[in-house]
Amino acid sequence: MPEDQRAGERNAMVDTQIAARGVRNPRVLQAMRTVPRHLFVPAAYESAAYRDGPLPIGHGQTISQPYIVALMTELLDISPGDRVLEVGAGSGYQAAVLATLGAEVITIERIPEVAALAEENLRNAGVHGVRVVVADGSEGYPQEAPYQAILVTAATPRVPEPLISQMAEGGRLVAPVGGRDVQELVRLVKREGRVESTFFGGVVFVPLLGRHGWEV
Ligand code: SAM
Repeated sequence: MPEDQRAGERNAMVDTQIAARGVRNPRVLQAMRTVPRHLFVPAAYESAAYRDGPLPIGHGQTISQPYIVALMTELLDISPGDRVLEVGAGSGYQAAVLATLGAEVITIERIPEVAALAEENLRNAGVHGVRVVVADGSEGYPQEAPYQAILVTAATPRVPEPLISQMAEGGRLVAPVGGRDVQELVRLVKREGRVESTFFGGVVFVPLLGRHGWEV
């Protein structure tokens, strides 16, 4: 399929699924118009890449719904040059959106085959500025802390303590917190060492499996 048609599908996705639901940040909308989502889904799902929902990427994992990617990105309030930690690389798509906003991204994935897929997708899409690490992301990545923004893209019973301590002063953290089946999106902001929480409604994510998430 010609790239032009994909660009048309991407613009329709942004207009009808993302802007229409209230995401306003023009830089986030532009990043969602730019990143070729169809290069981050398995070939069998390419024609469904711009639909309004998550899709399977293998190993029981998913690429999140476009609206949720945009909403979480907006809540993170990314500036160029921000150091960002993502927990749950999956397809690499969310990391690509963050890198397109000028962030320096470290994304952690616990399944080595999925991490390899993320790296391959990022390479195919020509995205720079993302490092993929295989590890238990519920421990964060203290080697590069502190982070201006941290994003957890798997469901966790509580925000893992190591992630809170790896937030920079003024830093933002967004995560789906709650039960294994349904969660609420929460944003933490660290100010003068204290953390303020705000909730943004219900979401459904695959579980964060690890020391500070759900038991493996
Ligand atoms: N952000 C991804 C994207 O753009 O495609 C979608 C992430 S998918 C919903 C959740 C991912 O989190 C899965 O790939 C899963 O293997 C990973 N995951 C689960 N527990 C993890 C952990 N403790 N550390 C790192 N990754 C984890």
